Amino acid sequence: MKIYNTMSKKAEELVPIIPNQLSMYVCGPTVYNLIHIGNARPMIVFDTFRRYMEYKGYKVNYVSNFTDVDDKIIKKAQEEGVPASAISARYIAECKKDMEALNIKPATVHPKATEEIDGMIDMIQKLVDKGHAYVAADGTVYYRTRSFAEYGKLSHKNLDDLEAGHREIRVAGEEGKEDPLDFVLWKPKKEGEPFWPSPWCDGRPGWHIECSVMSRKYLGDTMDIHAGGEDLIFPHHENEIAQSEAANGVPFAHYWMHNAFLNVDNRKMSKSLGNFFTVREILERYDPMVLRFFMLSAHYRSPLNFSKELMEAAKASLQRIETAVSNIKFKIDNQEDAPITEEERKLLEEEDAIRREFEEAMEDDANTADAISAVFNLVRFANSNIEGKSSEFLKQTLKNIEILLEVLGLRLNKEEELLDEEVEALIEERNQARKNRDFARADEIRDSLLAQGILLEDTREGVRWKRA
Ligand code: AMP
Ligand code: ZN
Repeated sequence: MKIYNTMSKKAEELVPIIPNQLSMYVCGPTVYNLIHIGNARPMIVFDTFRRYMEYKGYKVNYVSNFTDVDDKIIKKAQEEGVPASAISARYIAECKKDMEALNIKPATVHPKATEEIDGMIDMIQKLVDKGHAYVAADGTVYYRTRSFAEYGKLSHKNLDDLEAGHREIRVAGEEGKEDPLDFVLWKPKKEGEPFWPSPWCDGRPGWHIECSVMSRKYLGDTMDIHAGGEDLIFPHHENEIAQSEAANGVPFAHYWMHNAFLNVDNRKMSKSLGNFFTVREILERYDPMVLRFFMLSAHYRSPLNFSKELMEAAKASLQRIETAVSNIKFKIDNQEDAPITEEERKLLEEEDAIRREFEEAMEDDANTADAISAVFNLVRFANSNIEGKSSEFLKQTLKNIEILLEVLGLRLNKEEELLDEEVEALIEERNQARKNRDFARADEIRDSLLAQGILLEDTREGVRWKRA
């Protein structure tokens, strides 16, 4: 399998540290608001990458953090007059709801910065001891960027060019820096802000240190893949490398994967331009799977423009898959069981060839756009091989489609899969409606159950139901 490595700027063969295992860290959101559709892009594309590796039989250790202490969180908490922890807890819960709707698997671990402060203090102390960091008079701890000779190797930036760009910039509160290139590891508390005690001052960590510490705790000194959106390459990931490699003395990550940005109306999303959408807003208008399909319709390293047209196209494409699947299911349910014929066995070999097309696309730097084309090839093939086929053949075909949809994390609307409890609850609601003489509602419930293949029978003992 080849993946493009931002560090080498080349597609490289993926060779994991431990065969058939993969350790992976994906920088997660800062939780001060509902996540926006841009945040959903890395979540969806790297979840799909993970699903593919699991499909290949890999055990994936997938870590994704929540940044739960940050200026924006503190500002929001002050506006609302609540503790910062209330803001982050609220938006972590909301983010998890969106992830679930989008069928993004929970990470193996979702560490939170505020729960890992001790580890951050330890790593900062190590950097100070090794001369890679220093403590300014006000207690701020800075990373000594020039002490790390390879600084710039991920973003392909040169320290002197960076220096030239930084020389004029003076950041308020950071007067204690030896060099404008240095960045904050720990900063003193300000009035009304959350803080933790440390050897240097009461304060809080800078942003970059959390990922160095949390990835090491859960994945070790060296991980296979570090991922995130391309805006994180510099300075965030560059700084993570400087911290981790200086502290641990070994390479931090073997591969760096970065997704390109999602734009709206061909511009960067921004509240002031009015082209900013939360995932929640989009899910009011579209099924979550439409958004997921849309995100996967482009290669993760290509910029993607969000538009109504593309969302409608995604909706229609999903509908075509759904129709094919429900046609196959209908055929299976409405015929006698029969074994596979010799001719059908050959057709299944053709399906296997299409599945290999799908795999080749995913092996080529997780090309989900081509993988989706392979799914459509399979759907077309299934549509033209449905009449007069044995139930066993149709079941195999259905399974082949479902396996690929599972890799892409596309969950179809399975209306017939109404759970027994849900049916019982609706029947109870109908009984109540009838008691209240709300016959319109009662009929509506009966009709909607019927549309989902549930037949109701009113008997003297009460309502009985069965699946049609
Ligand atoms: P943040 O909360 O801003 O740190 O972002 C969380 C994740 O979303 C990071 O991996 C960002 O790179 C990514 N991200 C933010 N905005 C976009 C966007 N418009 N398109 C794609 N990825 C984004
Ligand atoms: Zn990070």
